[in-house]
Parts: sequence; structure tokens; C-alpha cells
Amino acid sequence: MTPFSFTLEARSGGARLGRIDTARGAIRTPAFMPVGTAATVKAMLPESVAATGADILLGNTYHLMLRPTAERIDRLGGLHRFMNWSKPILTDSGGFQVMSLAGLRKLTEKGVTFKSHIDGSKHELTPERSMEIQRLLGSDIVMAFDECPALPASRDRIAESMQLSMRWAARSRDAFGDRPGHALFGIMQGGLEKDLREESARALTEIGFEGYAIGGLAVGEGQEAMFDCLDYAPGFLPEDRPRYLMGVGKPDDIVGAVKRGVDMMDCVLPSRSGRTGQAWTRRGQVNIKNARHMDDSRPLDEACSCPACRHYSRAYLHHVYRAGEMISGMLLTWHNLHYYQELMQAMRDAIAADAFDAFESAFHAQRAEGDIPPL
Ligand SMILES: [Zn+2]
Repeated sequence: MTPFSFTLEARSGGARLGRIDTARGAIRTPAFMPVGTAATVKAMLPESVAATGADILLGNTYHLMLRPTAERIDRLGGLHRFMNWSKPILTDSGGFQVMSLAGLRKLTEKGVTFKSHIDGSKHELTPERSMEIQRLLGSDIVMAFDECPALPASRDRIAESMQLSMRWAARSRDAFGDRPGHALFGIMQGGLEKDLREESARALTEIGFEGYAIGGLAVGEGQEAMFDCLDYAPGFLPEDRPRYLMGVGKPDDIVGAVKRGVDMMDCVLPSRSGRTGQAWTRRGQVNIKNARHMDDSRPLDEACSCPACRHYSRAYLHHVYRAGEMISGMLLTWHNLHYYQELMQAMRDAIAADAFDAFESAFHAQRAEGDIPPL
């Protein structure tokens, strides 16, 4: 079995080009991971997701533990087989979504008890239970169980929460056990407090993980504050391990994060936007609901090779959105995921050529032009 490893191949400024090897295949970094919340990337067949260039998907522990349950997925052969995705899968720990979705939470040193948002049933998540669920799912990259306080929060609250997360990180490491080919990532917390981020990174590095995530960002602090944090936070983490920025983001967030040394990201945005008539292109965001597209026979993006752009007009995409047809979400999601993966490939090429600055300037210049003028 291929052991889990990370190879740093090139740099351009702070941006890093690399490759993660896992038992289920390689992940080219910087990598964008589409989100397959409930064992599906909504509106996409898994082979279509792979065709966009995705090397890895993200699955959500919170959703899967409630329905259909980790034990059932295990009995059915694991998450890869269950959802027909043979490449790597990263699962989150459930901690963040318990905080954002579940009702009646109770947080103790041991873990979190909560009521399901689906049927009100009572559940418990602890570092040990989260590791067990992610093992039952068959996840290739497992995330340590952490707590992320809702913002705004006081510095004391952020510090207490971070220290609890570090104790949970150590328990996650112990419970993960010996699983060749698989990886456990620790999650840095500490809000926007530089010294707390450093303390968190030190605690995690002492425990030792195969990779490190930067948690607690993209939770409403805004891009400027996030970039300020990313100016220093990745530098607190070991050079020779992948760095994963959780829950990011818009295309310009992604470019800014890669510039600052982030290797992996995930976000529901391209798939969620695809279901609400929003497309992301080289020229920025396009709202296909807008009446200006009604008679427009041109593709969404003439330079894009995805099925939505090769075979359909803006007028068609507008029509099926207005008519509430399922193909609307299917085509726009495909386009958005394709665009995100092309963006990652363009960044990987730019880093290999040590030309990330030039790439970044061109990226922003093209977006500043805006969408093509109406017919
Ligand atoms: Zn397209």
C-alpha cells in the first residue's frame, strides 16, 4: 500500500506546488476539494466530478453519521464504494457542523451532545467517536475533532476553545491508531489572534500530524482579515506537511490563500451557486437568472471546455433555470466545478514556471473586465 506522503515540488513566492500520495491515488496541490456532503456532490455524477479534474472529495461526518449512519456505510463496503468514488476522500470531524446545524448542543471536556436537525434524536460526538466514524466511512484523510466558537467571541473564549481543541487533537491522535496509507490532520485554531495561532500550531506540531488545517477562518471575518491571518498562520506550520484552509472559498479567496502558502481548500460555493443560477467564470460572476441572457445564443464562457459551455447557450441556461428544470443545476454545477479545477491547474502551472505573480495580475485583470457585454 502506498504510504501517505507529501512532496513539495516547487515554489513561487509563498505559493507551493506539491503532490500528496495516498493509498487511493495522488492529489495534486494546490488542490480544491468539491464537497460531497451527503455522499454526493449535489447534481453531479461522481464520474463527472472526476472529469472536472478533482483528485479528492470532502464528505461530512455530521451528515453521514445521522443519515444513513457510519455503521450502515461500513456494512455496505465504505463510503468510496457506497457513493462510487474511488479516489481519495477527506472527511471533516463533525465538530464545525454540530456547532452550525444541530439543535440543543451541550459542550463538555468530553465532547458535544446534540439533537439531530433531521429528527431531533440525541447524539454524542467526542474525539474518539469522530475517529471511529471517519474510520467506518473509510476516509483517506481524517480530521481531528475540534471546536470552533461562533464569532464574534471574546479573546478569552477563543483561547479557551483553542486549548480545548488542542486537548481534543491529542485524543484524536491517540484514537486514530495505526492506519497505513491514511492520514490524520490537526486543526489550528485561535481566531484572528496571532499569538493564539502560534500557540495552537506549536501544540499540534508537538503531537505530530500528517497534515495541518487552518480552521476558524471564512466564518464571516471578511477577506481582508482572513488574508491578514494567512500572512502569518501558514508559516507557523511545518514546511514539509500539507496545509489545508477549511471552507474557502470564492475564486479570489482561493488565489490569495495559495499565494500565502495554502495547499488544499474546500467549499460548497461552486456547487451551491450552480443550483441558484450563479456561474463563476474567468470574468467574474454571472447571474444566469438575469433577463439579459434570454436571447443570448453565446456560451457562458467561449473559452471553457465544460459541457455547459460547449453544448448550450446562455439563453438555454437561462430558460432551464426559469423553468425550474433539474438540468439547470446540473449544467451550472458542472461548469462551476470545471472552472474551479481549471483555476487550480492554472495556479499549479504558474508555480511550476515560478510565475505566480504574473498569474495573479492576469487573474485580477480579467475579472476586472467583467462579463461580456449584452448582445
Ligand atoms: Zn463552462
